Amino acid sequence: MKEALRENVASLSPVITEFEKPFWNSLQNGQLMVQKCPECGHVQFPPSPVCSNCLSDTVQWVNCSNKATLWSWVAFHKAYLEPYGDVPYGVVLAKLEEGPIVTGRMSAETVSTTAFDAPLRATYVKTADGTVLVEFVPEK
Ligand SMILES: [Zn+2]
Repeated sequence: MKEALRENVASLSPVITEFEKPFWNSLQNGQLMVQKCPECGHVQFPPSPVCSNCLSDTVQWVNCSNKATLWSWVAFHKAYLEPYGDVPYGVVLAKLEEGPIVTGRMSAETVSTTAFDAPLRATYVKTADGTVLVEFVPEK
């Protein structure tokens, strides 16, 4: 079987739409933001131009508490893509205190020893291309 390697790292950069910019900008400032609907109070992620609960187009960006719980995880032991060659590493689904579930990184060693529903805290790491990613760590 032929390995699928990507030569062009730029192709892995997120495609940021206009309505997603506040999210990516907030990560650059070390803060995680989600959208909250002032009409019905629904909190949502991923970002959308409208509330996924009531379709209001008045959704607003709000800061998260950076608190979450571990909802699911996987540890990658093979480097499928060049920019993610530093294996092993963990990828988690974390349920934010505000409600939405987000994807983030976590060290493979930590993720395999952290219980589901364990409290986590969001931290922020800058990749080589300048993209800031969320990395969760256990809350002590
Ligand atoms: Zn709504």
